[in-house]
Amino acid sequence: MELVTVGTGTVAPSASRTAACHWVSRGRLKILLDCGAGALHRLAEFGLPWQQVTHVVLSHFHPDHWGELPMLVYALKYTTAPPREEPLVILGPPGVVRLVKALAEGYGPWLLDPGFPIGILDIRDGEPFPLDAEVNLETFPVPHTPESVALAVAAPEGRLVYTGDTGPSSKLARWAAGADLLLAECSLPEEMALDIHLTPERAGELARDAGVRRLVLTHFYPPVETSDPARGAGARFGGPIAAARDGDRFTIGGA
Ligand SMILES: [Zn+2]
Ligand SMILES: [Zn+2]
Repeated sequence: MELVTVGTGTVAPSASRTAACHWVSRGRLKILLDCGAGALHRLAEFGLPWQQVTHVVLSHFHPDHWGELPMLVYALKYTTAPPREEPLVILGPPGVVRLVKALAEGYGPWLLDPGFPIGILDIRDGEPFPLDAEVNLETFPVPHTPESVALAVAAPEGRLVYTGDTGPSSKLARWAAGADLLLAECSLPEEMALDIHLTPERAGELARDAGVRRLVLTHFYPPVETSDPARGAGARFGGPIAAARDGDRFTIGGA
């Protein structure tokens, strides 16, 4: 399973960090974990076969996590040759069906019927959702907005856990236990800590408490860039840590 951190930024405009979007690829599966504004051009820039995307999974409904979704459907409708026939499955916490239907009220009916099948499903916590015969999606509620969830992609060779946006949570640490790779948000420096976001130190604590094998930091607001986030997290977690940049690649299992 391969992870590419396509967008490691936030809603804060940045020349180097696009809003949240992460590419997970395994065989035929091509999954976007979040689809923040600006992601499509980044996918193209990094040479990723975005035309083959099979699933989009949203962690919550802030636009830095879904703003590119209509653009993705529009691009799949008009710029794939031959025309796409494969379904696109859009998943997220309860409310994602309502969100996409509401978007279609504004954008037009093509968003729900772009010429290839679109499946939209609300995923309930605690019910693993099969993405194919071997890989499951799991969700877990986190303290950020009422609908916010962390996401896990569980394959035989390893489990990837993505926090989405979250504050500190001991329950999340238990759910993430033993993950092969924890992709954790790292929004703000410790002196600006909030209950609904993590700092480098708190991301490190989450990785330590969960006993994960590897920590990758993402979702950096500009103030946290003035520090050394990997070092801050390393004060609490002894395993390998990367402060991801847009386009970084990671392998889970195998290799
Ligand atoms: Zn965010
Ligand atoms: Zn958010």
